[in-house]
Amino acid sequence: MVSDRSWKDKYLQELESSEQREQQWKAERNSLERMLVRTCLASEGQAPDLDRLLIRVRKDLRKGNLDIEKWRSLQEQIDRQVALLDDSPQSRPGNGRSYQPGKAVDAPPQSESSSAVTVGDENDLATIHAQRLRIARRVGQLLGQMIYQVALEPAAEARARRLQKSLLESDSWDVLREGLNSVADLVIAAITRGQREFEAFLKKLDERLGSLRQHFQNQSSAQEGRMDASRQLDREIRRELETFGRQIDSVGELKELKLSVTRHLETIGGVVERFRDQESEREKSYSRQLELMEEKLAAVEANSEQMREQIREERAKALTDLLTQLPNREAWQERLGFEYSRWQRYRHPVTIAVLDIDLFKRVNDSYGHKAGDRVLQMVARECQQRLRTTDFISRFGGEEFVLLLPETPAEDAKRVLDDLRGHIAALPFHFQGEPVTITFSAGVATLEDGDTEETLFDRADKALYAAKDAGRNQVRLSVDCEGLSAASGHQARQ
Ligand code: GH3
Ligand code: MG
Ligand code: MG
Repeated sequence: MVSDRSWKDKYLQELESSEQREQQWKAERNSLERMLVRTCLASEGQAPDLDRLLIRVRKDLRKGNLDIEKWRSLQEQIDRQVALLDDSPQSRPGNGRSYQPGKAVDAPPQSESSSAVTVGDENDLATIHAQRLRIARRVGQLLGQMIYQVALEPAAEARARRLQKSLLESDSWDVLREGLNSVADLVIAAITRGQREFEAFLKKLDERLGSLRQHFQNQSSAQEGRMDASRQLDREIRRELETFGRQIDSVGELKELKLSVTRHLETIGGVVERFRDQESEREKSYSRQLELMEEKLAAVEANSEQMREQIREERAKALTDLLTQLPNREAWQERLGFEYSRWQRYRHPVTIAVLDIDLFKRVNDSYGHKAGDRVLQMVARECQQRLRTTDFISRFGGEEFVLLLPETPAEDAKRVLDDLRGHIAALPFHFQGEPVTITFSAGVATLEDGDTEETLFDRADKALYAAKDAGRNQVRLSVDCEGLSAASGHQARQ
């Protein structure tokens, strides 16, 4: 979820610092206004028209009635008056027609300035010049205070310093007059600066709200289930922002503008909070469903694992011979099928052997069936222990075993089986106190082109029969038994 708290906090913080800026700005404005009042007072007494204008400036300042457009025209009128003053000797003190401050305030504006120009003496000129210089210096000092008290933008500050320097140092009236005009510009610039700052702040705020809206737009594409809620939220926020934008354009007063921003943000905050509540409700319900599903799934998994285990056990049982614990005939068929497929693909040698315990019937007959079983178990164990792990041995049935030797040519298999035969013949069986020797006969066959699983087995079985025929306790290769009739094999004997 979006951290709606944090942008709200940031807005409030921003508002607070903007209020601080505004207070500072008010203090600055106060000192500027005081300075302007003093400048006006210092400049009065030059000409009645100028005084009237300066009084208007002071009145406006007192009432706090600062209409910048009106002031600009006021400034232009003052400029004109100062220019006239510069050219006209009428205001010179001591020429008999000198202007008396206070008396001429109500006089018609042009009456004095339209008088004939009288050139005064050197003394008069010097006095006027001294008076103008005094005014300029005073304004220069005030400007110095202003620079000290007011945080101007760097460019404005540089301008103010240049201005102050010329007001304090220059003796040329043209320079001084120009400078005095610039003071008004500077004051206006400083006054309008506060508003610009707040406008910049609003712009920043608007951008931030824009990115908030973007965030919700992105969120809305994140999850299908959230689509509707997000779209509605987005619509509501967009509507708020549009209204808000329109009001920024139309509202002139900063106070109203701030109120409007706050109101809109509160509405947006409410919308976001509602969205968040709905969202967390939805999430809760999702997670409840998820928990239920997980429980069910766990039960199903446990059950199926149990069943898998059961099947594994049954399958293992189905493929194992109970007496010897060797793979049974089923397992043999499976394994032979697998090796046959591999052989068809890779053509690596595959050899099988069929083993049959010699004259086993006699063991049963002489020492009992149990003794016969023990012999079968012993032979099975010895075969399993002595063969390679890749070899496969199975109890095919009765006292017959079959071996599968992958990657083994027939001659090698014969050697292995002869070793095994020797080993089993040497086992110390004792029944009823008598030592008994157990031997087996075996037939060996290797897969050849054109073979099937059955033809392979038949050849091995024929070779076994040949071994029995040849006197038992021996291993025969099927290749050595070609020409023997098929009927003499295992299938025929069963
Ligand atoms: P040959 O050398 O020709 O193979 O002689 P044989 O006596 O081994 O062959 P025959 O097929 O005549 O006898 C096999 C005997 O194996 C018959 C049967 O009683 C015995 N037999 C088969 N299965 C078992 C068994 O699971 N346990 C016991 N104890 N004897 C079995
Ligand atoms: Mg047999
Ligand atoms: Mg036998």
